[in-house]
Amino acid sequence: MNTDLPIREDLRGRDPYGAPQLDVPVRLNTNENPHPPSPRLVQALAEAVAAVAGRLNRYPDRDAVELRKDLADYLGHGITARQVWAANGSNEIIQQILQAFGGPGRSALGFEPSYSMHPTITHVSGTRWIDAERSADFGIDPRSAIKAIEQHRPDVVFLTSPNNPTGTALPPAVIQEILAVASGMVVVDEAYAEFRREGTPSALSLLPGNRRLIVTRTMSKAFAMAGTRVGYLAADPEVVEALLLVRLPYHLSAITQVVARTALAHGDELLGAVEALRQERDGLMEWLRAEGFTAPESDANFVLFGKFADRGRVWQGLLDRGVLVREVGPPEWLRVTVGLPEEMAAFRTALTEVMAEVMGEIA
Ligand SMILES: *Cc1c(COP(=O)(O)O)cnc(C)c1O
Repeated sequence: MNTDLPIREDLRGRDPYGAPQLDVPVRLNTNENPHPPSPRLVQALAEAVAAVAGRLNRYPDRDAVELRKDLADYLGHGITARQVWAANGSNEIIQQILQAFGGPGRSALGFEPSYSMHPTITHVSGTRWIDAERSADFGIDPRSAIKAIEQHRPDVVFLTSPNNPTGTALPPAVIQEILAVASGMVVVDEAYAEFRREGTPSALSLLPGNRRLIVTRTMSKAFAMAGTRVGYLAADPEVVEALLLVRLPYHLSAITQVVARTALAHGDELLGAVEALRQERDGLMEWLRAEGFTAPESDANFVLFGKFADRGRVWQGLLDRGVLVREVGPPEWLRVTVGLPEEMAAFRTALTEVMAEVMGEIA
Protein backbone atom coordinates (compact mmCIF):
# COMPACT_ATOMS: atom_id res chain seq x y z
CA MET A 1 0.00 0.00 0.00
CA ASN A 2 1.24 3.42 -0.97
CA THR A 3 -0.57 6.33 0.59
CA ASP A 4 -0.05 9.85 1.83
CA LEU A 5 -1.96 8.99 4.99
CA PRO A 6 0.22 9.12 8.09
CA ILE A 7 0.43 5.31 8.21
CA ARG A 8 3.19 3.61 10.23
CA GLU A 9 6.46 3.69 8.26
CA ASP A 10 6.93 -0.05 8.65
CA LEU A 11 3.55 -0.73 7.00
CA ARG A 12 4.22 1.48 3.97
CA GLY A 13 4.61 -0.56 0.79
CA ARG A 14 3.28 -3.79 2.32
CA ASP A 15 0.52 -5.89 0.72
CA PRO A 16 -2.44 -7.34 2.63
CA TYR A 17 -2.88 -11.13 2.87
CA GLY A 18 -4.56 -12.09 -0.37
CA ALA A 19 -5.11 -15.72 -1.32
CA PRO A 20 -7.47 -15.22 -4.29
CA GLN A 21 -11.13 -15.90 -3.35
CA LEU A 22 -12.40 -16.77 -6.83
CA ASP A 23 -15.76 -18.29 -7.60
CA VAL A 24 -14.65 -21.32 -9.62
CA PRO A 25 -16.06 -24.87 -9.65
CA VAL A 26 -13.06 -26.56 -7.99
CA ARG A 27 -11.45 -24.62 -5.14
CA LEU A 28 -8.30 -26.36 -3.94
CA ASN A 29 -6.34 -23.36 -2.71
CA THR A 30 -6.90 -22.68 1.00
CA ASN A 31 -6.73 -26.13 2.62
CA GLU A 32 -10.35 -26.15 3.73
CA ASN A 33 -12.19 -29.38 4.42
CA PRO A 34 -14.42 -29.87 1.33
CA HIS A 35 -17.36 -31.33 3.32
CA PRO A 36 -20.05 -28.87 4.42
CA PRO A 37 -21.88 -29.59 7.69
CA SER A 38 -24.67 -32.16 7.38
CA PRO A 39 -28.33 -31.07 7.57
CA ARG A 40 -28.44 -32.58 11.07
CA LEU A 41 -25.51 -30.44 12.21
CA VAL A 42 -26.89 -27.36 10.46
CA GLN A 43 -30.09 -27.88 12.50
CA ALA A 44 -28.11 -28.26 15.74
CA LEU A 45 -26.10 -25.11 14.96
CA ALA A 46 -29.25 -23.12 14.22
CA GLU A 47 -30.82 -24.22 17.51
CA ALA A 48 -27.67 -23.41 19.47
CA VAL A 49 -27.46 -19.94 17.92
CA ALA A 50 -31.17 -19.37 18.59
CA ALA A 51 -30.59 -20.24 22.24
CA VAL A 52 -27.95 -17.52 22.70
CA ALA A 53 -29.69 -15.01 20.42
CA GLY A 54 -32.05 -14.04 23.24
CA ARG A 55 -29.06 -13.05 25.39
CA LEU A 56 -27.08 -11.02 22.84
CA ASN A 57 -27.70 -7.83 24.82
CA ARG A 58 -25.07 -9.22 27.26
CA TYR A 59 -21.34 -9.59 26.66
CA PRO A 60 -20.14 -13.16 26.17
CA ASP A 61 -18.04 -15.15 28.66
CA ARG A 62 -14.76 -13.22 28.45
CA ASP A 63 -12.72 -16.28 29.30
CA ALA A 64 -14.67 -18.75 27.12
CA VAL A 65 -14.44 -21.28 29.96
CA GLU A 66 -16.90 -23.86 28.64
CA LEU A 67 -15.37 -23.81 25.18
CA ARG A 68 -11.88 -24.21 26.64
CA LYS A 69 -13.08 -27.22 28.66
CA ASP A 70 -14.48 -28.81 25.51
CA LEU A 71 -11.28 -28.12 23.59
CA ALA A 72 -9.17 -29.60 26.40
CA ASP A 73 -11.32 -32.75 26.35
CA TYR A 74 -10.91 -32.98 22.60
CA LEU A 75 -7.11 -32.67 22.82
CA GLY A 76 -6.70 -35.35 25.50
CA HIS A 77 -3.11 -35.85 26.75
CA GLY A 78 -4.40 -34.92 30.24
CA ILE A 79 -4.70 -31.27 29.14
CA THR A 80 -7.02 -29.08 31.25
CA ALA A 81 -9.04 -25.94 30.45
CA ARG A 82 -6.44 -23.78 32.25
CA GLN A 83 -3.90 -24.88 29.65
CA VAL A 84 -6.12 -24.00 26.70
CA TRP A 85 -6.82 -20.62 25.14
CA ALA A 86 -9.08 -19.84 22.18
CA ALA A 87 -9.41 -16.92 19.75
CA ASN A 88 -10.77 -15.93 16.35
CA GLY A 89 -8.71 -18.34 14.29
CA SER A 90 -5.23 -19.51 15.15
CA ASN A 91 -4.06 -16.37 13.39
CA GLU A 92 -5.42 -14.34 16.31
CA ILE A 93 -3.77 -16.81 18.69
CA ILE A 94 -0.45 -16.16 16.93
CA GLN A 95 -1.04 -12.42 17.10
CA GLN A 96 -1.70 -12.60 20.85
CA ILE A 97 1.45 -14.70 21.34
CA LEU A 98 3.50 -12.03 19.55
CA GLN A 99 1.81 -9.22 21.48
CA ALA A 100 2.70 -10.92 24.75
CA PHE A 101 6.12 -12.37 23.94
CA GLY A 102 7.32 -10.30 20.96
CA GLY A 103 7.03 -6.58 20.24
CA PRO A 104 9.46 -3.71 19.59
CA GLY A 105 13.08 -4.64 20.31
CA ARG A 106 12.23 -8.33 20.18
CA SER A 107 12.49 -10.95 17.44
CA ALA A 108 10.80 -14.07 16.12
CA LEU A 109 12.46 -16.75 14.02
CA GLY A 110 10.93 -19.23 11.60
CA PHE A 111 12.14 -21.82 9.12
CA GLU A 112 11.22 -21.08 5.49
CA PRO A 113 9.44 -22.07 3.38
CA SER A 114 6.57 -21.99 5.83
CA TYR A 115 3.29 -20.27 6.65
CA SER A 116 3.43 -16.67 5.40
CA MET A 117 1.28 -15.34 8.25
CA HIS A 118 4.03 -16.03 10.80
CA PRO A 119 6.33 -13.31 9.37
CA THR A 120 3.37 -11.07 8.51
CA ILE A 121 1.87 -11.07 12.01
CA THR A 122 5.39 -10.76 13.42
CA HIS A 123 6.01 -7.56 11.43
CA VAL A 124 2.63 -6.08 12.28
CA SER A 125 3.27 -6.65 16.00
CA GLY A 126 6.47 -4.60 15.69
CA THR A 127 8.64 -7.67 16.15
CA ARG A 128 11.72 -8.28 14.00
CA TRP A 129 11.47 -11.37 11.78
CA ILE A 130 14.44 -13.71 11.33
CA ASP A 131 14.45 -16.03 8.39
CA ALA A 132 16.07 -19.41 8.98
CA GLU A 133 16.11 -22.17 6.39
CA ARG A 134 14.64 -25.61 6.08
CA SER A 135 16.80 -28.28 4.49
CA ALA A 136 16.41 -29.47 0.88
CA ASP A 137 13.83 -32.09 1.91
CA PHE A 138 11.87 -29.32 3.74
CA GLY A 139 12.67 -30.78 7.16
CA ILE A 140 14.56 -28.88 9.86
CA ASP A 141 18.14 -29.89 10.49
CA PRO A 142 18.60 -29.69 14.28
CA ARG A 143 22.26 -28.68 13.99
CA SER A 144 21.61 -25.65 11.78
CA ALA A 145 18.45 -24.80 13.76
CA ILE A 146 20.42 -24.75 17.00
CA LYS A 147 23.08 -22.60 15.35
CA ALA A 148 20.49 -20.07 14.15
CA ILE A 149 18.78 -19.94 17.55
CA GLU A 150 22.08 -19.53 19.42
CA GLN A 151 23.17 -16.82 17.02
CA HIS A 152 19.95 -14.75 17.06
CA ARG A 153 18.45 -15.57 20.49
CA PRO A 154 14.87 -15.03 19.22
CA ASP A 155 12.08 -14.34 21.70
CA VAL A 156 9.73 -16.57 19.72
CA VAL A 157 10.54 -19.57 17.50
CA PHE A 158 7.93 -20.81 15.02
CA LEU A 159 7.90 -24.47 14.04
CA THR A 160 5.08 -25.49 11.70
CA SER A 161 4.35 -29.20 11.82
CA PRO A 162 2.95 -30.49 9.53
CA ASN A 163 4.44 -27.58 7.62
CA ASN A 164 2.47 -25.41 5.22
CA PRO A 165 3.08 -25.40 2.22
CA THR A 166 5.33 -28.48 2.17
CA GLY A 167 3.32 -30.98 4.31
CA THR A 168 6.45 -31.93 6.28
CA ALA A 169 6.01 -33.09 9.91
CA LEU A 170 8.79 -32.65 12.48
CA PRO A 171 9.98 -35.52 14.67
CA PRO A 172 9.43 -34.64 18.38
CA ALA A 173 13.16 -35.19 18.94
CA VAL A 174 13.93 -32.16 16.76
CA ILE A 175 11.41 -30.03 18.66
CA GLN A 176 12.97 -31.20 21.91
CA GLU A 177 16.47 -30.24 20.77
CA ILE A 178 15.18 -26.78 19.85
CA LEU A 179 13.38 -26.42 23.21
CA ALA A 180 16.64 -27.26 24.94
CA VAL A 181 18.49 -24.29 23.41
CA ALA A 182 15.73 -21.70 22.89
CA SER A 183 15.48 -19.04 25.59
CA GLY A 184 12.21 -17.69 24.18
CA MET A 185 8.84 -19.26 23.50
CA VAL A 186 8.64 -22.13 21.02
CA VAL A 187 5.40 -22.22 19.04
CA VAL A 188 4.54 -25.44 17.22
CA ASP A 189 1.79 -24.57 14.73
CA GLU A 190 -0.19 -27.79 14.33
CA ALA A 191 -2.99 -26.45 12.11
CA TYR A 192 -2.93 -29.74 10.19
CA ALA A 193 -2.32 -32.14 13.09
CA GLU A 194 -5.40 -34.29 12.45
CA PHE A 195 -4.17 -35.17 8.96
CA ARG A 196 -0.79 -36.53 9.97
CA ARG A 197 0.06 -40.10 9.07
CA GLU A 198 -0.07 -43.01 11.47
CA GLY A 199 2.90 -42.92 13.85
CA THR A 200 3.62 -39.18 13.51
CA PRO A 201 3.37 -37.84 17.10
CA SER A 202 1.93 -34.47 18.11
CA ALA A 203 3.99 -31.91 20.04
CA LEU A 204 1.22 -32.04 22.69
CA SER A 205 3.09 -35.00 24.16
CA LEU A 206 6.03 -32.63 24.88
CA LEU A 207 3.99 -30.17 27.00
CA PRO A 208 4.67 -31.69 30.44
CA GLY A 209 7.79 -30.01 31.80
CA ASN A 210 8.21 -27.61 28.86
CA ARG A 211 6.81 -24.28 30.09
CA ARG A 212 7.94 -22.37 27.03
CA LEU A 213 6.21 -24.67 24.54
CA ILE A 214 2.98 -23.54 22.88
CA VAL A 215 1.07 -25.85 20.54
CA THR A 216 -1.47 -24.08 18.32
CA ARG A 217 -4.41 -25.75 16.58
CA THR A 218 -7.42 -24.63 14.56
CA MET A 219 -10.98 -25.64 13.77
CA SER A 220 -10.52 -24.29 10.23
CA LYS A 221 -8.98 -27.34 8.58
CA ALA A 222 -9.75 -30.92 9.67
CA PHE A 223 -12.71 -29.71 11.74
CA ALA A 224 -14.41 -28.23 8.66
CA MET A 225 -15.27 -24.98 10.47
CA ALA A 226 -13.18 -22.37 8.62
CA GLY A 227 -16.16 -20.01 8.52
CA THR A 228 -16.50 -20.05 12.31
CA ARG A 229 -13.01 -18.62 12.95
CA VAL A 230 -11.83 -20.56 15.99
CA GLY A 231 -8.22 -21.34 16.73
CA TYR A 232 -6.73 -22.40 20.04
CA LEU A 233 -3.57 -23.36 21.87
CA ALA A 234 -2.35 -25.67 24.58
CA ALA A 235 0.44 -24.51 26.86
CA ASP A 236 1.37 -23.97 30.50
CA PRO A 237 -1.41 -22.16 32.46
CA GLU A 238 0.98 -19.21 32.97
CA VAL A 239 1.21 -18.75 29.21
CA VAL A 240 -2.57 -18.49 29.08
CA GLU A 241 -2.48 -15.92 31.90
CA ALA A 242 0.07 -13.89 29.94
CA LEU A 243 -2.23 -13.84 26.91
CA LEU A 244 -5.09 -12.47 29.04
CA LEU A 245 -3.01 -9.26 29.27
CA VAL A 246 -3.19 -8.65 25.52
CA ARG A 247 -6.50 -10.12 24.40
CA LEU A 248 -9.29 -7.65 23.74
CA PRO A 249 -12.14 -7.91 26.23
CA TYR A 250 -14.88 -10.25 24.93
CA HIS A 251 -12.86 -11.10 21.81
CA LEU A 252 -14.79 -14.33 21.13
CA SER A 253 -18.45 -13.63 20.42
CA ALA A 254 -21.20 -15.61 22.13
CA ILE A 255 -22.18 -16.90 18.67
CA THR A 256 -18.64 -18.08 17.93
CA GLN A 257 -18.38 -19.82 21.29
CA VAL A 258 -21.67 -21.68 20.97
CA VAL A 259 -21.07 -22.65 17.35
CA ALA A 260 -17.63 -24.00 18.20
CA ARG A 261 -19.01 -25.99 21.15
CA THR A 262 -21.77 -27.44 19.01
CA ALA A 263 -19.21 -28.40 16.36
CA LEU A 264 -17.05 -30.07 19.01
CA ALA A 265 -20.07 -32.02 20.26
CA HIS A 266 -20.43 -33.28 16.67
CA GLY A 267 -16.71 -33.95 16.35
CA ASP A 268 -17.21 -37.51 15.15
CA GLU A 269 -19.16 -36.31 12.15
CA LEU A 270 -16.85 -33.39 11.34
CA LEU A 271 -13.67 -35.40 11.67
CA GLY A 272 -15.26 -38.40 9.93
CA ALA A 273 -13.95 -37.28 6.55
CA VAL A 274 -10.35 -36.97 7.71
CA GLU A 275 -9.44 -40.59 7.06
CA ALA A 276 -10.89 -40.46 3.53
CA LEU A 277 -8.99 -37.20 2.89
CA ARG A 278 -5.74 -38.79 4.07
CA GLN A 279 -6.27 -41.67 1.66
CA GLU A 280 -7.13 -39.27 -1.14
CA ARG A 281 -3.91 -37.37 -0.33
CA ASP A 282 -1.78 -40.51 -0.50
CA GLY A 283 -3.43 -41.45 -3.81
CA LEU A 284 -2.82 -37.96 -5.18
CA MET A 285 0.84 -38.08 -4.21
CA GLU A 286 1.24 -41.46 -5.88
CA TRP A 287 -0.44 -40.20 -9.04
CA LEU A 288 1.70 -37.05 -9.17
CA ARG A 289 4.88 -39.06 -8.80
CA ALA A 290 3.78 -41.61 -11.42
CA GLU A 291 3.20 -38.65 -13.78
CA GLY A 292 6.78 -37.54 -13.25
CA PHE A 293 6.18 -34.67 -10.82
CA THR A 294 8.10 -34.22 -7.60
CA ALA A 295 5.93 -34.22 -4.47
CA PRO A 296 7.38 -34.24 -0.93
CA GLU A 297 5.79 -36.53 1.67
CA SER A 298 2.74 -34.84 3.18
CA ASP A 299 1.19 -35.18 6.65
CA ALA A 300 -1.40 -32.51 5.80
CA ASN A 301 -4.47 -32.15 3.59
CA PHE A 302 -2.49 -30.72 0.68
CA VAL A 303 0.42 -31.66 -1.51
CA LEU A 304 3.22 -29.47 -2.85
CA PHE A 305 4.10 -30.45 -6.38
CA GLY A 306 6.50 -29.36 -9.11
CA LYS A 307 8.86 -28.46 -10.34
CA PHE A 308 7.84 -25.92 -12.95
CA ALA A 309 9.94 -23.53 -14.98
CA ASP A 310 6.90 -21.21 -15.07
CA ARG A 311 4.44 -22.10 -12.35
CA GLY A 312 2.29 -19.06 -13.06
CA ARG A 313 1.55 -20.53 -16.46
CA VAL A 314 0.44 -23.86 -14.97
CA TRP A 315 -1.61 -22.09 -12.26
CA GLN A 316 -3.40 -20.04 -14.93
CA GLY A 317 -3.92 -23.11 -17.16
CA LEU A 318 -5.59 -24.92 -14.26
CA LEU A 319 -7.71 -21.87 -13.45
CA ASP A 320 -8.82 -21.64 -17.10
CA ARG A 321 -10.15 -25.18 -16.59
CA GLY A 322 -12.02 -24.23 -13.43
CA VAL A 323 -9.45 -25.53 -10.94
CA LEU A 324 -7.96 -23.10 -8.41
CA VAL A 325 -4.71 -24.17 -6.71
CA ARG A 326 -2.23 -22.02 -4.77
CA GLU A 327 0.84 -20.29 -6.09
CA VAL A 328 2.83 -20.39 -2.88
CA GLY A 329 6.15 -21.53 -1.47
CA PRO A 330 9.42 -21.74 -3.40
CA PRO A 331 9.11 -20.46 -6.98
CA GLU A 332 9.04 -23.80 -8.82
CA TRP A 333 6.15 -25.32 -6.89
CA LEU A 334 2.37 -25.24 -6.61
CA ARG A 335 0.21 -26.43 -3.75
CA VAL A 336 -3.03 -28.34 -4.16
CA THR A 337 -5.54 -28.96 -1.36
CA VAL A 338 -7.09 -32.42 -1.14
CA GLY A 339 -10.77 -32.11 -2.02
CA LEU A 340 -13.59 -34.48 -2.89
CA PRO A 341 -12.82 -37.44 -5.19
CA GLU A 342 -14.59 -35.72 -8.11
CA GLU A 343 -12.62 -32.52 -7.49
CA MET A 344 -9.36 -34.46 -7.51
CA ALA A 345 -10.40 -36.13 -10.76
CA ALA A 346 -11.04 -32.68 -12.26
CA PHE A 347 -7.61 -31.56 -11.01
CA ARG A 348 -5.84 -34.57 -12.54
CA THR A 349 -7.58 -34.08 -15.91
CA ALA A 350 -6.85 -30.35 -15.94
CA LEU A 351 -3.20 -30.81 -14.97
CA THR A 352 -2.69 -33.47 -17.66
CA GLU A 353 -4.13 -31.09 -20.27
CA VAL A 354 -2.09 -28.13 -19.10
CA MET A 355 1.14 -30.13 -19.13
CA ALA A 356 0.42 -31.40 -22.65
CA GLU A 357 -0.06 -27.78 -23.73
CA VAL A 358 3.13 -26.59 -22.05
CA MET A 359 5.16 -29.52 -23.46
CA GLY A 360 3.67 -29.01 -26.93
CA GLU A 361 5.00 -25.47 -26.99
CA ILE A 362 8.48 -26.49 -25.90
CA ALA A 363 8.68 -29.28 -28.56
C1 LIG B 1 -4.55 -22.41 7.82
C2 LIG B 1 -3.44 -22.23 8.79
C3 LIG B 1 -3.67 -21.63 10.02
C4 LIG B 1 -4.98 -21.13 10.34
O1 LIG B 1 -5.66 -20.43 10.53
P1 LIG B 1 -7.01 -19.96 11.18
O2 LIG B 1 -6.74 -18.55 11.51
O3 LIG B 1 -7.18 -20.83 12.40
O4 LIG B 1 -8.04 -20.19 10.14
C5 LIG B 1 -2.64 -21.54 10.94
N1 LIG B 1 -1.43 -22.03 10.66
C6 LIG B 1 -1.18 -22.62 9.49
C7 LIG B 1 0.17 -23.18 9.24
C8 LIG B 1 -2.17 -22.73 8.52
O5 LIG B 1 -1.89 -23.28 7.34
